[in-house]
Amino acid sequence: MEKQNIDWANLGFGYVQTDKRFVSNYKDGAWDEGTLTSDANIVLNECAGVLQYAQTIFEGMKAYTTEDGRIVVFRPDLNASRMADSARRLEMPVFPEDRFVEAVVETVAANESFVPPYGSGATLYIRPYMFGSNPVIGVKPASEYQFRIFATPVGPYFKGGVKPLTIRVSDFDRAAPHGTGHIKAGLNYAMSLHAIVSAHAEGYDENMYLDAATRTKVEETGGANFLFVTKDNKVVTPKSDSILPSITRRSLLHVAKEYLGLEVEEREVYLDEVKDFAECGLCGTAAVISPVGKIVDHGKEICLPSGMEKMGPITQKLYETLTGIQMGRIEAPEGWIKVIK
Ligand SMILES: *Cc1c(COP(=O)(O)O)cnc(C)c1O
Repeated sequence: MEKQNIDWANLGFGYVQTDKRFVSNYKDGAWDEGTLTSDANIVLNECAGVLQYAQTIFEGMKAYTTEDGRIVVFRPDLNASRMADSARRLEMPVFPEDRFVEAVVETVAANESFVPPYGSGATLYIRPYMFGSNPVIGVKPASEYQFRIFATPVGPYFKGGVKPLTIRVSDFDRAAPHGTGHIKAGLNYAMSLHAIVSAHAEGYDENMYLDAATRTKVEETGGANFLFVTKDNKVVTPKSDSILPSITRRSLLHVAKEYLGLEVEEREVYLDEVKDFAECGLCGTAAVISPVGKIVDHGKEICLPSGMEKMGPITQKLYETLTGIQMGRIEAPEGWIKVIK
């Protein structure tokens, strides 16, 4: 198939409208069969549940072209089950997990000309989402919903090389204990916007959020989980009920253990011990891992030994192994790669 005439290597992370998107509606207690449409716009009643009470959830994943020219998606079954968890927490109907994966496949296949070529560094970002669509004015869950998936090509994350991030310990909280931090809800992002805008204004790339109850333990950033490496090469990630369970982070832990033979630990991580780590990275679909070079806690600087020039050695190995698996250069664990064609 002929590819779109796009300068893949210089694409940013922005919305580019593609040809087709998947839409399914929920009404009278059931999902319809769903369809692909060319219409990128949504017409909603002014009182729709999503507009009044933010009843909306989403997912994010990527399609890639592998070294041997196949188009694949990385572990979409985990996005399906995480979206089901998000739906249950916000009293929304679950879009069946097998149908979710089928709809991802259909959407990517219908936009094949927008899947960037192997080696370009670009990928096709896939955004499934669901929202309450009927009028709701008394506070309650909507009774009608729309589930949609669109895709948009995005450029390489590390343009012009990797640059370790400088982050600050935030005075704002991201998620309450027993709140919604563990689900992928739009509301978690709305409330993080002020914190990220002010972090950027002060020269930081990201916020490190602490646990809201004691403000002593590391949680995550606005959109990525932490991964630390100890001086004796153990991989550590924070454990908390209010962290969003990143699929990238879970995959990296598996890679650390099973491919690199490293010890891994998922446990509470105190802010006080961060100064003792050798490496720090942020994990998520967008970048896989972005290295952190410096963490600033109210004027006190914690400089990671890996420095401000490059990834630490373990972070680098993790990054290369997982991206190798995704791009088909390294054999993937059973079930990790969904082949579109
Ligand atoms: C989506 C998200 C992540 C990353 O999850 P991946 O599945 O790895 O993309 C991390 N933290 C938050 C808050 C998120 O919303």
